[in-house]
Amino acid sequence: MAQPIEILNQYFGYPAFRPGQEDVIQTLLHGQDCLAIMPTGAGKSICFQIPALLLPGITIIISPLISLMKDQVDALVAQQIPATYINSQCTFEEAKQRFAAIRAGRIKLVYVSPERLQNEFFASFMQTMPVAMLIIDEAHCVSQWGHDFRPSYCAIKEWLKTLPRRPIVGAFTATATAKVKQDMLTLLGLEKERIFIGGFDRPNLYFQVIANVDKLRFVLSYIQKHKGESGVIYAATRKEVDRVYKELYSRGIRVGRYHAGMSDSQRQKAQEDFTYDTIDIIVATNAFGMGIDKSNVRFVIHYQMPKNLESYYQEAGRAGRDGAPGECILLFSRQDIMIQKYLIELSVHSPEQQAKELQMLNRMVGYCESRQCLRHYILTYFGEHPTWQRCENCGNCDREVVEEDRTPTVRNICQCVDELKGHFGLTMVCDVLKGSKNAKVKRYGFQQKTSFGLLGDFSGNEIRDMLRQAIDDGFLQQSEGQYPVVKLTAMGQDVLAGNRKVVQERMITPPQEDMMVPKKKRKQENPFIDEEALRPLFDALRAVRYEMAKKEHIPPFVIFSDATLWEMASQQPRTLEDMATIKGVGEFKLNKYGKQFIHAIANTIER
Ligand code: ADP
Repeated sequence: MAQPIEILNQYFGYPAFRPGQEDVIQTLLHGQDCLAIMPTGAGKSICFQIPALLLPGITIIISPLISLMKDQVDALVAQQIPATYINSQCTFEEAKQRFAAIRAGRIKLVYVSPERLQNEFFASFMQTMPVAMLIIDEAHCVSQWGHDFRPSYCAIKEWLKTLPRRPIVGAFTATATAKVKQDMLTLLGLEKERIFIGGFDRPNLYFQVIANVDKLRFVLSYIQKHKGESGVIYAATRKEVDRVYKELYSRGIRVGRYHAGMSDSQRQKAQEDFTYDTIDIIVATNAFGMGIDKSNVRFVIHYQMPKNLESYYQEAGRAGRDGAPGECILLFSRQDIMIQKYLIELSVHSPEQQAKELQMLNRMVGYCESRQCLRHYILTYFGEHPTWQRCENCGNCDREVVEEDRTPTVRNICQCVDELKGHFGLTMVCDVLKGSKNAKVKRYGFQQKTSFGLLGDFSGNEIRDMLRQAIDDGFLQQSEGQYPVVKLTAMGQDVLAGNRKVVQERMITPPQEDMMVPKKKRKQENPFIDEEALRPLFDALRAVRYEMAKKEHIPPFVIFSDATLWEMASQQPRTLEDMATIKGVGEFKLNKYGKQFIHAIANTIER
């Protein structure tokens, strides 16, 4: 039997496995069930595609979306991997041909929707076939908590019993909450499974939160600086999507939009335009993304804060799936919190669930307001324990700061928290310190407190920032739960008693136009060395790719990823032999496309 690594080199053109991939592959090859929870972009598909090629018999892959099936199968076929899909969009003739090809042993991977298992013909056909593996992709769909809950996923367990021999079962998802995990384990009929929780870090992604800016102005200037790059802009509501879309469109930007209020065909068109690089940017609600498998998304901007970190990391994680640098920028304003609270109240009815969701929202707000390393915050949220404190590659680690003695201010804060006796949240502490005379402050008679108005010279946002920092620095402690309250810690009591000095870092705020990811920094992180000098060649290769993709009616990134094109631009291979050493150039693609890209490289350099 060939080795997994050989298949990876030959078919996929990658030199090495990414962390976690090999373990999952070996588990399946040894006949053991597995549940793999890995972040978007970690490279889940290869984990079941390689065993599917190596095991005798066929592998059925349950996939939730027709468009996703098509994309995956297109990408496989482009690498000469024998795959097909059977779904409601196939004509009778097509389905017949595909079943015949499966019967004749010419197909190794069959993609279907979960509903297909209940189709009588399909079920009895599979009873006569050697089914080696059953893979459930996007397996969180089994859970009531999964955002795409589908009852037919629950029938998989029973369906397995109808087969003469039980196949190996593998479940894959990027959703990591405990409840979803439990549901996947109980509802899918996994047996003695091994569970893999992949490292959630995505080192090629740059995270940044930008608070209180003119969002539209920021987005326009960002797009201006990233011309030709693919990006997604997520907004919280349809109305907002339409508004932002119109602003961009009216300025001649190659942009599309996507939300649940549009017709199926409009949405499909937008998605296709984006996948095929006909447009660069898509403005969308969170309805967009599940079916999108585009690897060359260079940035994801959140125009509003999403409702929780699970959604955020999944959406932001759509950037940089090819391993080349990607940027994930969240534009935050406190108004976003109201919008998300409203949406939760509107869509979630059980009080218990509402409380849970509000708690998750609080953690999301914590991310936006945190001054710590953003990557550290995310990884800790997903249950990891990074051994470092700063990643040196996120907006917060990159902030320029100066040290300042802040003892008097923090003492005022501690005094206020002490006077409110740990019964109130950040908003009330902030209002009292600001000297706000709103109804709630009056109702509790807090205008009488000594700390009332002590920080009246600062804006509400500034006070909030100070409170966040006092929490991060350990002077205050914020409780968990739907209505978190703040209390003094022992350190905070020391400050209040005048026994401790407070030295804090103050951010030197750059002017708004410059609040981008510093270019210098990006280059350092970018494995493709001198990005600017290579750009003309990269653009030329991208143009070749675009034309070829158009001829073949496949998305450009299916031919080669951006990462592969960057490597070509930097290595500038002149022969097929040299070309074969580029990551992402497998044997089949080398023969099919190698010459044309070598030609384009030679042409561009000589000019
Ligand atoms: P996921 O389903 O986990 O979101 P995919 O399976 O779509 O991720 O993989 C994301 C990208 O990473 C794809 O472009 C894939 O070809 C690439 N990839 C997967 N494994 C490797 C590897 N070992 N080396 C380099 N790139 C890889």
